[in-house]
Amino acid sequence: METILFLAPTEADGTLSQNALETLGAAKALTAELAGSSLIAGLVGATIQPAANQIAGCGATRCLGVAGTELAQSRYSTDAAAAEALAQAAGATLILAPAGSRWNRALPGVAQRLGGRVDTHVTALAAADGKPAITRWYYRQRMEGTLTRTTRPWIVLLESGCAPAWSGDAGRATVENIPVALPPLRTSVTGLKAPPADEQTIRPDAKLLFVAGAGWTKKQADGLAHAAEAEQLILGFLKTAQASLGSTKSLVDLSGEGQAVLKFMTHLNQVGQTGSTPRHPKGLATCCHGEEPHTVGWRFIGERRAINLNAGCSWAQGKADVLYVADAFAVMREVNRLLAARPS
Ligand SMILES: Cc1cc2nc3c(=O)[nH]c(=O)nc-3n(C[C@H](O)[C@H](O)[C@H](O)COP(=O)(O)OP(=O)(O)OC[C@H]3O[C@@H](n4cnc5c(N)ncnc54)[C@H](O)[C@@H]3O)c2cc1C
Repeated sequence: METILFLAPTEADGTLSQNALETLGAAKALTAELAGSSLIAGLVGATIQPAANQIAGCGATRCLGVAGTELAQSRYSTDAAAAEALAQAAGATLILAPAGSRWNRALPGVAQRLGGRVDTHVTALAAADGKPAITRWYYRQRMEGTLTRTTRPWIVLLESGCAPAWSGDAGRATVENIPVALPPLRTSVTGLKAPPADEQTIRPDAKLLFVAGAGWTKKQADGLAHAAEAEQLILGFLKTAQASLGSTKSLVDLSGEGQAVLKFMTHLNQVGQTGSTPRHPKGLATCCHGEEPHTVGWRFIGERRAINLNAGCSWAQGKADVLYVADAFAVMREVNRLLAARPS
């Protein structure tokens, strides 16, 4: 029997993010699976009433909140103080929270303050023998482990894209405001710098991951490299398909070696063992060999396709659902033409 606290920060407009709604979906499912358990909502932010109203129909027995302008920004000291107060007010034994830079930073310290335990990068929650159990990956997504803990409170940070988002009727919720003595502010956020939306190539919510490999910058059949056309084809596709852009290590490393490169590509795009492990329903690898240190980053990509000139490339060794043995320049030229001709 657990007292489950769904603990989430609100967005700038006072509502909940997609990841927070996914965590709520998982929290609700777990509450139903663990007989006698109850669900409490805890919200933190500059404004929290819109979020409380958004989840009014979620079945939480109480909705607790800490609101204030100091909580508009992610800051360890204020976030940790607010989260600690909510955990105590709820008498929570299990605290389920969305993984993101804000909570990943603040909640491990909160676990320490509460004398509890924390698990980050969790990908699934379930009841096993009447007890909560979590799943997470180890050794760069090569091994999956399921574990339970006896220590309480237990804080669990759930990764995005792992559970169906809660959806239900909005309403008018009553929020119990929990008093917190926030510590003196020593950090102030003076502004945000972000690239314009159309220059942003990493899109975690995209349906498709488009991976570019080093082949785009290599000499082609005419004996020449065609980096300029590669850039135009890739950016054209990303713009119309709103896909997220991934890269191989070889391609992003080329810039350091002074070779012809795709200027919009950085190490942040790198997928793989020493890169990221993004989550998307589909993936398309182009001019990429599909070696294991790269494809290990495809663990959470649903349907995988690749375009490679080489029928013996690594994608053909059971790593792709479909391999097109073709020239990626020709294929993407045609794909972009078809996308442009689509009725809008
Ligand atoms: C410890 C360690 C960690 C690593 N971590 C990572 C990592 O995190 N991520 C990562 O990506 N790699 C990683 N690597 C490197 C990895 O092993 C590969 O070297 C790398 O992924 C190769 O990149 P690539 O496929 O783009 O390049 P290449 O191996 O050079 O392959 C280029 C491909 O392009 C194809 N091609 C060329 N022209 C065309 C065309 N016109 N149309 C279609 N296909 C074409 C070629 O047939 C070829 O298969 C790691 C390696 C080590 C040792």
